[in-house]
Amino acid sequence: MYHYSDLPVAVIGAGPVGLAAAAHLVQRGLQPVVFESGKGPGSSLVEWGHVRVFSPWRYVFDKAALELLEESGWIQPDPDVLPTGSEIVQQYLIPLARLVGRHIKYSTTVHSITRLGFDKVASDGRDRAPFIIRYRDETGVERRLTARAVLDASGTWFRPNPIGVDGLPVPGESLARGLISYGIPDVLGQERQRYADGTVLVVGSGHSAINAVLSLLELRKQHPKTSVIWALRRNKIDKLLGGGLNDQLPARGALGLAAKNAIESGSLKLLAPFSVESIARRGETLAVEASLNGQRETLHVDRIIVATGFRPDLDMLRELRIELDVAVESPRRLAPMIDPNLHSCGTVPPHGVEELAHPERDFYIVGSKSYGRAPTFLMTTGYEQVRSVVAELAGDHLAARQVQLVLPETGVCNVTLPGVEEASSAGCCGSPAPTKVDACCAADATAKSEGKSGCGCGSTNPAQETEPAA
Ligand SMILES: Cc1cc2nc3c(=O)[nH]c(=O)nc-3n(C[C@H](O)[C@H](O)[C@H](O)COP(=O)(O)OP(=O)(O)OC[C@H]3O[C@@H](n4cnc5c(N)ncnc54)[C@H](O)[C@@H]3O)c2cc1C
Repeated sequence: MYHYSDLPVAVIGAGPVGLAAAAHLVQRGLQPVVFESGKGPGSSLVEWGHVRVFSPWRYVFDKAALELLEESGWIQPDPDVLPTGSEIVQQYLIPLARLVGRHIKYSTTVHSITRLGFDKVASDGRDRAPFIIRYRDETGVERRLTARAVLDASGTWFRPNPIGVDGLPVPGESLARGLISYGIPDVLGQERQRYADGTVLVVGSGHSAINAVLSLLELRKQHPKTSVIWALRRNKIDKLLGGGLNDQLPARGALGLAAKNAIESGSLKLLAPFSVESIARRGETLAVEASLNGQRETLHVDRIIVATGFRPDLDMLRELRIELDVAVESPRRLAPMIDPNLHSCGTVPPHGVEELAHPERDFYIVGSKSYGRAPTFLMTTGYEQVRSVVAELAGDHLAARQVQLVLPETGVCNVTLPGVEEASSAGCCGSPAPTKVDACCAADATAKSEGKSGCGCGSTNPAQETEPAA
């Protein structure tokens, strides 16, 4: 027989937000059990470890985590320096994971969550039933854990969007998997040989795509037969490149400008609007059937890099009563704040337990997964989410509702060049940065410089203090 309040709180994922949740739970005297499918903390950051982020260290630390670390004699990295994904893992997540290590189960993958004795339809007494977490341990054995609450911080990195413009894989995409990379491959490092002197098609319009393109152009300096084709599914290039001219985030602006120069110098072939219709593997090359500006085209390439964003894995939540926005796949009340159809600047009001709640009591999706398909998530957002949710679980309802976050302004706004109408939904977040950055969105700055009110970037929550952007 269990005592409900003695049960642990299950946290799924030992990324920055899952570990921050563990730190807050420990601080509040609650017992976390963190499930992590990787062998160590920050498995998704390890995959993009070569990428330098836009946020300086000060925005990478969670407050509760920092307190635990400081008590342990940890030496804090320079808060003004921009770390890489690997540096975040090595210098922050691994030391933090050591401190809360007895609560973490590595190499364990959660595959489903339910309520003890209650399928999704059963209602009477549901709120009082503990959660059952079903997972496979490091030996592949199926196990279960009983928990009083669940924080799903499992991220979206391992669910990249497929290449199809309709959200589905195109015919042949899975068979060609060996020659396709999703995300930001390390083309200048570990994966250099895969890309050197080949013809590479990059699909996507965000900063991840720009980063991949620029890295390939860098690779071309040593391997001149490398050929780069950049395909945009919609005609969005104006926003990225135009933003580069005005962007107050110098690193992002630099990316945009470098891409623009590459296009103008002819060292990069740009295709837009472009949608892949099928892929056929021919030995070690790929034949890509596509529509370019309404015309059928066949491209022959050696590799494809797909940088078209990510989506949450909802399969494990099938037996829970969750309430998600139909488009963004984020908690319903959060969605209007982050919907990329509405928010070009990525300005996100502070939010916490209220916005993250589901009909399923004591269940929360936090971290990058809470943003569903929206690309604008920042770690600082996730830290405030878990602070608020953990306060609620600890019975401190007041603290849970005093949402303390002032988000750094995150956005690249729409910068529509004359004659090009569409704006991109790709945010700055999830994007790499070569140099130090500290500010906000380009269109807002432009509007303000013209004496107009702008789009809200740089604005401060009246009750809060503004901090520089990540
Ligand atoms: C290239 C890139 C650059 C970014 N730059 C910035 C930046 O400059 N500033 C910023 O604030 N944010 C940035 N972000 C966005 C965001 O902060 C990161 O994606 C961050 O890693 C999100 O943290 P998380 O803990 O929510 O998810 P993740 O870091 O993705 O962690 C999720 C964890 O859950 C584990 N997991 C998944 N499924 C399961 C399962 N079923 N069972 C058990 N474990 C599971 C995974 O292995 C993973 O370790 C960037 C993102 C990317 C991709």
